[in-house]
Amino acid sequence: MSPFPVKPILIAHAWQNRKMITLYTDRRMINHKTPAGHPERPERLAALLDHWEKKGHKAAMRAGSFGEVTRPALSRIHSGDYLDDLEAESPRATDDRPIMLDPDTHMALGTLTAARLAAGAAVAAVDQVMKADANDRIAFCAVRPPGHHARVHSAMGFCIYSTIAVAAAHARDQLGLERILIVDFDVHHGNGTQEIFYDDNRVGFVSIHRHPFYPGTGKADESGRGRGAGFTWNAPLGASTSRTAYHSAFEKVLETAAEKMRPQLVLISAGFDAHRLDPVGGLNLETEDFGLITKALMNVANTHCGGRIVSLLEGGYNVDKLVESATLHIETLGCRPESLIKN
Ligand SMILES: [Zn+2]
Repeated sequence: MSPFPVKPILIAHAWQNRKMITLYTDRRMINHKTPAGHPERPERLAALLDHWEKKGHKAAMRAGSFGEVTRPALSRIHSGDYLDDLEAESPRATDDRPIMLDPDTHMALGTLTAARLAAGAAVAAVDQVMKADANDRIAFCAVRPPGHHARVHSAMGFCIYSTIAVAAAHARDQLGLERILIVDFDVHHGNGTQEIFYDDNRVGFVSIHRHPFYPGTGKADESGRGRGAGFTWNAPLGASTSRTAYHSAFEKVLETAAEKMRPQLVLISAGFDAHRLDPVGGLNLETEDFGLITKALMNVANTHCGGRIVSLLEGGYNVDKLVESATLHIETLGCRPESLIKN
C-alpha cells in the first residue's frame, strides 16, 4: 500500500482542467424524414451518434444543452413571410405528407422541429464558446438538416434555415462581435451564407468548393459588395483537383482571410462531401484530409481568438465516410475517447 494518501480532490481537479469539446446534438433531428433514395437521410446523423456512443467519443465530450431556436434569432436572417410560410405549410399529424419546398428540399412532420433544434444548437454553442474559459472553447454541432444553401426568403438544396448564418448573426447582434469568420469546406458552395453576409464587413466568408457545380455560385471574383467588399473569399476547384492542390488552395485562401479578419470567433460549415467516395460531391479528398483541414482551422483560431471554434455539420452523403471523416474532425479538434488516450 502506498505510504502517500490518495488525494481525490487533485484527481478531480486534473480532470476538470482537461480540454474538452462540447457536443450539441439531439436525436429528434433524426425525425426529419426525407423520401426514399434522398441522400440527406436520417441515417447520416443516426450512424454518427451511434458510432460516437459505441466508441466512447460521446462520453469524451461535454453535452451542450439547448432548445429550439427563437423566432427573433431566425428573423435576423430570414424574412418574416418565409418563416410564416414554413409554419403554415408544416405537415400536421393528421396529414403528414411531406411538402416540397424546392426540388431537393422536403418538409415532413419532424422537419421544422429538427431545423429549429439545429439552429438552436448553433446559437447555444456560440454563447458557450464565447463565455467559456480556455478549456471549453470548441463546440461541434451534429445537426441536420444542413443549412448553407438556405436563402433569406426560401429553402434550397436540402436546407431550411441558414443555421450557420443564424449563429453568426447572433454573435454579431447579441454578443456584439465585430469580426466573425465563417469557413465552409463542404464540396458545394455555401451560396446562402455568402448572400446573407455579402455586404457585411463584420462576418467574413471563406468557401472552398467544387466549381462549376451545384449551386453554380462561388467564382473567385465573388468577393463581397459595399461595406462587405473584400470580405468574401471563394476558392473554386475543378473536379479533378489533386489533394495537394486542394490543401494549398485552402491554406492560401484561409490565411488571406484570417489575416484580414483577425476573427474573434471561427465558425465552420463542416461538410464532408468532398470525400472521394461521396456519391454527391466527389472531389478527391481522403478521410485523413479532413484532419489537415481541421488543423489549419485550429491554427487560425489559436492565432486570433484563443481557439474559439463552433463547427456545424453540413453535407456528407456516404454514411461510412461521413462517420470516419467527422470522427477525425472532432478527434483533431480535441475529442479524446479512452481508446485514443490509452494508445
Ligand atoms: Zn454539400
